[in-house]
Amino acid sequence: MNQLIRRVLIGASAVVIALPMTGCVQNLKLGSDYVATSSAAAPQTEVTSQGTPSPAADGSGQKADSAPASPSSDTSSASDTASGTSAAPASDPAGESIIAETVKFDPSWEYAANSRINTGTATLYHAKPTGAKGIVVCINAGHGTKGGSEVKTLCHPDGTPKVTGGTTEAGATEAQAVSTGTVFQDGTPEAEVTLKAALATRDKLLMAGYDVLMIRETEDVQLDNIARSLMANNCADCHIAIHYDSTGTDKGVFFMSVPSEESYRSMEPVASHYEEHNALGRAVVKALESVGLKLFEGGEMEMDLTQTSYSTVPSIDIEVGDTASDHSEESINVVSDGLVLGVDAYFQNNGAK
Ligand SMILES: [Zn+2]
Repeated sequence: MNQLIRRVLIGASAVVIALPMTGCVQNLKLGSDYVATSSAAAPQTEVTSQGTPSPAADGSGQKADSAPASPSSDTSSASDTASGTSAAPASDPAGESIIAETVKFDPSWEYAANSRINTGTATLYHAKPTGAKGIVVCINAGHGTKGGSEVKTLCHPDGTPKVTGGTTEAGATEAQAVSTGTVFQDGTPEAEVTLKAALATRDKLLMAGYDVLMIRETEDVQLDNIARSLMANNCADCHIAIHYDSTGTDKGVFFMSVPSEESYRSMEPVASHYEEHNALGRAVVKALESVGLKLFEGGEMEMDLTQTSYSTVPSIDIEVGDTASDHSEESINVVSDGLVLGVDAYFQNNGAK
């Protein structure tokens, strides 16, 4: 892919600068190193893009490992990042830049060999410099990987069998790389609703000063559950996968907590991280309850998930409803408010990182 630097004008004021594709770790934690590019407040509503000679020309403070883009860069690569779509973040009233990096799966990451679907890319958005917290939240819109249910991946990094049921039964060593997800009672696919919730949450997190790693911003991303987890491990400080459960009773919100089986909790990387997974989950369900959502059975259910089994940052699957739940814009607005409050509570109580 061409190393194309793009300046994307969104709405009336926000500027999103898409940086070259990155393996993420070396570019992570840019913090206040990058410089805001004040917006020209162009009255465009359409996304435009242009190549610039080098990252330095943008004053973006990017490291030298980003090769200068050729002015003759193929502009078709503009469509390679999701920020080139209408799904770009909402305008920033302060007119400061939101910087977006395309994140690519890195085969040198720990457990990378266990992933089977990883040609897709994620997008790392850096919050505007003013008020930036320097915390990266990975938002993972559940499902949305065509072909993902026909590919199998190892449930656990060490190949041991699952200790609980779920989409795949207990005792299995392999599970669907990414399942299709459920369907709402009105026929709406779960993946469509999780995407809406993810996009709403992204915008609120950015406004609150969090950097956001977006796993999926369109209908499909070719990243399996392992690849999604490894992206979060290497590029984020926590990982929140948004789901709706397959039941049809509108039973309430819960997160998939870490199974208490000794064999599971003693397996790495679970052993070193299960307490933070559960702490994040409890903070998030409490916050969702505080915005008016009901909890199902105290808000947690033990589940042996691929995501949890491979996570080295605080990581949860949150079921924000089920197939009978309201998924109107209003309801999604409440869910995203709760998720941001939960992230706030977690990092306030557990330190920045
Ligand atoms: Zn789901």
